[in-house]
Amino acid sequence: MTQAIQDQFTGLYSPQRRFALRHPEKYNATRRNWSHKRRLEIISKLGNKCIICGFDDPRALCIDHINGGGREELRNISNTSTRYYRMVEEHPERYQLLCHNHNWIKKCENHEGVKVWD
Ligand SMILES: [Zn+2]
Repeated sequence: MTQAIQDQFTGLYSPQRRFALRHPEKYNATRRNWSHKRRLEIISKLGNKCIICGFDDPRALCIDHINGGGREELRNISNTSTRYYRMVEEHPERYQLLCHNHNWIKKCENHEGVKVWD
């Protein structure tokens, strides 16, 4: 797409959307950076470690729905990370931090869409 056609096309959008269309690499890098910071903020608010074993590397921590239903909740929100993080902030009593191992074990024990191992 030539720049003139792209400018005509992007003129229909908000300044943020135009920036995203003109500079996708910069826009995506900014979004990733923002999402990463937001995730760390939420992890910090939930205690920074797995509530079962104390594992504390944020790369392998999951925000877990205490009473299940996380998959359904994610399906119902469109802008996933923004709304999801806001929901966690507004209702921290519904969520807990688990490491990936304990999250997976919980899913198996609760038959949440994974094969049950004997
Ligand atoms: Zn754990």
